[in-house]
Amino acid sequence: MTADVVIAGAGPNGLMLACELSLAGVRPIVLERLNGQTKENRANGLVGQVVRVLDRRGLYERLSGSAEPPRPSPGFVFGAMPLDLGRLDDNPMYGLAVPQKRLEQILEDRARELGVEIRRGHELTGLSQDEDGVTAEIAGPEGPYRLRTRYLVGADGGRSVTRKLCGIGFPGVTRDDSVSRTAHVSVPAELIDPATGGLNVPGYGPIPPFMHHRTEHGMFAFAPFPTGTLVSATEWSQDGGDQPMSLDELRESVRRVLGVDLPFGPPEGAGPHMLRRLNGGNTRLAERFRDGRVLLLGDAAHVHSAIGGPGLNLGLQDAVNLGWKLAAEVHGWAPPGLLDTYETERRPAAERVVMHTQAQAALIAPGPEVTALRVLFGELLRDERTIKHIADLMSGADIRYDLEGTHPLTGRPAPDLVLETETGSVRLAELTRTARPLLVDLTPDAALAGALDGRRDRVDLVTAKTSREGLPTALLLRPDCYVAWASDSLRPGAKELDTLRTALASAFGPAR
Ligand SMILES: Cc1cc2nc3c(=O)[nH]c(=O)nc-3n(C[C@H](O)[C@H](O)[C@H](O)COP(=O)(O)OP(=O)(O)OC[C@H]3O[C@@H](n4cnc5c(N)ncnc54)[C@H](O)[C@@H]3O)c2cc1C
Repeated sequence: MTADVVIAGAGPNGLMLACELSLAGVRPIVLERLNGQTKENRANGLVGQVVRVLDRRGLYERLSGSAEPPRPSPGFVFGAMPLDLGRLDDNPMYGLAVPQKRLEQILEDRARELGVEIRRGHELTGLSQDEDGVTAEIAGPEGPYRLRTRYLVGADGGRSVTRKLCGIGFPGVTRDDSVSRTAHVSVPAELIDPATGGLNVPGYGPIPPFMHHRTEHGMFAFAPFPTGTLVSATEWSQDGGDQPMSLDELRESVRRVLGVDLPFGPPEGAGPHMLRRLNGGNTRLAERFRDGRVLLLGDAAHVHSAIGGPGLNLGLQDAVNLGWKLAAEVHGWAPPGLLDTYETERRPAAERVVMHTQAQAALIAPGPEVTALRVLFGELLRDERTIKHIADLMSGADIRYDLEGTHPLTGRPAPDLVLETETGSVRLAELTRTARPLLVDLTPDAALAGALDGRRDRVDLVTAKTSREGLPTALLLRPDCYVAWASDSLRPGAKELDTLRTALASAFGPAR
C-alpha cells in the first residue's frame, strides 16, 4: 500500500476529512485536479452546529479571528421568513460569515501543518478495488500513474467521478425553472440605514440585511460583507441564457423582482468580486455512501438548494463523522460495522437537509397560493415551539444518532461545559481539539478511570468539577463530540460501569 487513505478532492469537505484523519494518526494523500485554488466563491457563511464543531477543533478562532467562543445568532430566516431566535432559551443556531475560499485556505493550511500531502494538478480518472484495497488511476502533471490505497474517499463534488466510477446512482430532481443572479456591487451610502444595516430602496422601503426577501415576482437579498456588498435576485420562469453575466442584467432582474430601480455601481476594492448567474438547481442523494473500500463525502453524496446555507453544516459534519471511523479501521481497532454507521448516521442528516431546502424553495416561489401559505406559516412562526423546531432542523441540532443507552444525551452533541481541572478552568471545546475519544469524569471521587483499562491508548480521561447544576456526572465522547454514554450518578456502581464498558466496546473496540 502506498497510502492508507486517498481523498479525491481538496474542497472544504475533503480538506476537513484530511485534518481529522491526521489528528487520528493516519496520513492521507489528497488529490486535487485544480492546480491552484478555485476561482469560484460559493458559500458566504457557515450556518448551524458546524460552527460549534469548528470551535471544538480550534478552527473557529482562526476563522473568526476572535478568542471568544461562538454565540448563537439572534435571528435567521426560513424560506425568506424571519425567525426570532432571541426568544429561545436553548438557541442552536450558530452562524459565521466567512467566504468559502477563506475557509478552504484555512483548512488547507491546517492540513499541511498536520502533515497531509496535497497533490494539486492530480485528477482521479479511474479506480478498481479488491478485498485489500483500491487502485486509483490518476492523471498527474507528469502523466498518468497508479496509487494503491486501503480506502478511497470521493470528496470530489456534486459531479463526483468517484461516485460515477463506482456506479452509484444519484437519484433526485433537476429544476430548470429559476435563475439566480448575484454580484458584489457598491450601493450609495445614503441608502444604508446606519442603525440596522438595512437597505432603504427608493420607492420600495427598507429591506433588512442578510435575509432573503420574497416578492410576488421573485426573491431579493442584500448582504454587506467585509469583502463587498452582495446583491442577489432570483426569478422563476426566466431564461438566464449562457452569455457572460453583467451588472446591467442584475439591475434589470432586481427591477423585475422589486418593481423599482435600485441604484448601484461596480464594486470597490481589489476583489475578487462575484458576478454569477445560476440557472436551475439539483436536489439529489446518492443511493449509497459506500461501495466496499470507497466512500462518498459532502457534495459527492448529496446536493440541494443553497437556501439557508446548509451545505457545509452537512458536509463538514460528514467529514468529522467519517474521519475517526476510517482511522479506527486503519489502526485495526474498529468494532465490526463501525464504518457502516457513517451512512446510517449521516444519511438521515442529509435527508433532513433535502427536505427543508425543498420546503423553503416551495415557500419562496411566486403565486397567490404561496403567499397564502406564507401567511399561515407566519402565524405558526409566532409560536416559540415552532421556532425551536425549525431552528433545530436548520442547524442540525435535531440529529440523534442511534446509540445504545437511555440517557437523554446519548447520541447527541456534547453540551458546552466549563470544567474546573487541576490545572485550572477550561472549556470542554478546548479539550476536544486533539479529536481523541474522551471520558469526562465529574464524579466527586473520580470513580471511572478503571473502566478505561485496556483502552487507554485510544481513550483519554479528564477528571474535573463543574459548578453548573443539572449536568451529567460523566460523559463519554466520541471524537466527533457526540455523546456515546452519559451518567447522572454521583457514585457510579457496577451497573453504570457495565454500561460504560459496553459503550466503550461498541464505539472503540475491544480492550487490549
Ligand atoms: C452558489 C452556491 C452558494 C452556496 N452557499 C453556501 C453557503 O452560504 N453555506 C454553505 O454552507 N454552503 C453553501 N453552498 C454549498 C457548498 O458550497 C458546498 O456544499 C461545498 O462546496 C461542498 O464541498 P465539497 O468539498 O463536498 O465539494 P466541492 O467544494 O465541490 O469540492 C470538490 C473538489 O474536488 C475536486 N475534484 C473534482 N473532481 C476531481 C477528480 N476527479 N480528482 C481530483 N479532484 C477532483 C474539485 O476541483 C474541487 O476542488 C453553496 C453552493 C453554491 C453552489
